[in-house]
Amino acid sequence: MTIDLATPVGSLPFIGEVMDKRLSNLGIETAFDLLHHYPFRYDDFSLISKISDIQPGETVTIRGKVINISNFFTKYGKKIQRAKVADESGQINIVWYNQPFLVQNLKDQFVSISGKVETFQGKVVMESPEYEIVNNHNIGIHTGRLVPIYPETYGVSSKWLRNRIFFLLKNGLAELEKEYLPEELRQENNLVSLDFALHHVHFPASQDTANQARKRLAFNELFLIKLNSLIKKREWNREVVGKKFRIKNHELRIKNFVDKLPFKLTYAQTRCLSEIMDDLGQSKPMNRLLQGDVGSGKTVLAAMAIYLAYLNGYQSAFMAPTEILAFQHYQTLKNFFDGLNIKVSLLTSGVKTDKKVETDVFVGTHALLFKKINFKNLGLVVIDEQHRFGVEQRASLTQKGVNPHLLTMTATPIPRTVALALYGELDLSYLDEMPQNRQQVKTWLVPEEKRNSAYHWIGQKLKEMTGQAYWICPLIEESEKETMQSVKAATTEFTHLQKKVFPEFKLALLHGKMKSEEKGKILSDFASGKTDILVSTPVVEVGIDLANAIFMVIETAERFGLASLHQLRGRVGRGEKKSYCLLFTQSQSEQSTKRLKAMETIYNGAKLSEIDLKMRGPGDIYGLAQHGYLKLKIASLSDNELVRMVNKAAVDAINGLGSYAPLQAKLKSYTIRTVRPN
Ligand code: ADP
Ligand code: MG
Repeated sequence: MTIDLATPVGSLPFIGEVMDKRLSNLGIETAFDLLHHYPFRYDDFSLISKISDIQPGETVTIRGKVINISNFFTKYGKKIQRAKVADESGQINIVWYNQPFLVQNLKDQFVSISGKVETFQGKVVMESPEYEIVNNHNIGIHTGRLVPIYPETYGVSSKWLRNRIFFLLKNGLAELEKEYLPEELRQENNLVSLDFALHHVHFPASQDTANQARKRLAFNELFLIKLNSLIKKREWNREVVGKKFRIKNHELRIKNFVDKLPFKLTYAQTRCLSEIMDDLGQSKPMNRLLQGDVGSGKTVLAAMAIYLAYLNGYQSAFMAPTEILAFQHYQTLKNFFDGLNIKVSLLTSGVKTDKKVETDVFVGTHALLFKKINFKNLGLVVIDEQHRFGVEQRASLTQKGVNPHLLTMTATPIPRTVALALYGELDLSYLDEMPQNRQQVKTWLVPEEKRNSAYHWIGQKLKEMTGQAYWICPLIEESEKETMQSVKAATTEFTHLQKKVFPEFKLALLHGKMKSEEKGKILSDFASGKTDILVSTPVVEVGIDLANAIFMVIETAERFGLASLHQLRGRVGRGEKKSYCLLFTQSQSEQSTKRLKAMETIYNGAKLSEIDLKMRGPGDIYGLAQHGYLKLKIASLSDNELVRMVNKAAVDAINGLGSYAPLQAKLKSYTIRTVRPN
């Protein structure tokens, strides 16, 4: 058969149905995917030694003949394999465990053996080393070199992957993939060719070529993402809509609006506002991401953009992720617009609406807004806390033939480098300053042995201050899985806390699987003070604003990203009352403690997410977060040099793109891989 990059792995030689299924767990469907399943490290077996030269403690490869091999039984009935291997310089004992077939396979063979040299009862021995039969044609792929270690899955070992990938490389698959980076760009960035990279990422000649290969492949990964988003941005910029807002005429009204606010805008708010206003005055649609910590005051900026739309005779839509939040935004906007004759309508699942004509501002959930209304003249869409920052919204809007300005808001502190790399099609505004009047929420990491005294203290404080508490658990139900047993579940915790710990308080339970009316009722009871403690899954993470909540208690805190913890913490400390955040953890790991301890001293979401980026890697930043996130195989977003290189190269490339067909072709077939944690 002929094999090409698109060949399904199931039809490759030596891969049957069973392996096919298992490979799909690793996201491997085609020969291409297999070829691009990169190792995450290498065992260094490149030191080849004569048997007489080897020293205990060394990791070496020896080559020789198996002169003796047989099975032995241990006391416990396990089989061990003892062998003697000889080269021209001497002999060495080798031991394997539970691989009785080796006796047949290796008997009298010429082998290459790699592993660590130990001593046992005064003799050198190698225990469970890697092995393979070698002959003249066979240079060895599991021994005697840098040996790739891959992400594995049940029933798919690195050794197996190595064999299969080696086969593909031997059959010229790497050469089938067209080089798609222009020569000039490669030279400028010191990048090896694609086929060289594919060979050497799997079977490097040296650490040096491994590094070169990895650099090239990491570059590929980020470069395509970046270039793709630049292209989207360019397309966006080409779109002209007649929705250029007049601003000059309305300056006085805007000023009056600001003067009437019960607070003074922060410098950051003023700066972001003028960035937004500038965009709204253009004839191409705005596509801006406003990023600011919880409580940094994004809503008022949205309100002002909406006001400007209104003054220009346009409708706006304000989209929230949940109905509860939509309701809050609805009320907030009505407050802001008090006395301004702007008609705000709330769209809920219960309400049938046909208010399109007389409404100026529609508030609703992401799901509802576009299903329910045909807008009269939509000029602005505000999206609060959305996953893919407007991608889906934009698609559904253009489908309807409207092309309004788009303002997306998020409290997820995406590091600037990450944002630039991933969301290059957006313009960014950072609200990097908190309003002056904000209190710092005192935060402690509470070890398990202090749990009971913490309970006691919380109870006292709640009474003393007549305050309320959020109590967050990572899961809804107790998990079946053994590994999850120590992870707190909201339902069990709720019962336990109500019955055993806080019988004198009124507790309520809230989680994501509840119906939205039920959720609404529970939240409004909590808001009106009917309940004291709200035991919940992290669904409260985005948005709600209750001044009387003084405790944010988080169970199994190590399961959360710091950025998420920070967002949760931002739910309290919104009123006059002194507020606290308690992080419970059962984790004994020093790394985990150190990470969580950062919450005690750092109150800046961006800094916290940088720490997570360093300590856990980008894949985990949003460990629990609600954002669709890129699945990076080899590039690291904390590799600043790479990110810088890619950013520059992508800008250069987009200008010369028209004249470079292979890159254009590559981009056409390219899709961004994302993970969406639930
Ligand atoms: P977020 O950025 O998390 O959406 P909000 O817009 O909900 O934050 O603002 C949180 C609270 O802070 C609101 O009650 C809002 O009215 C208030 N606020 C906004 N800007 C300021 C400011 N400059 N000074 C004081 N309070 C402000
Ligand atoms: Mg908000």
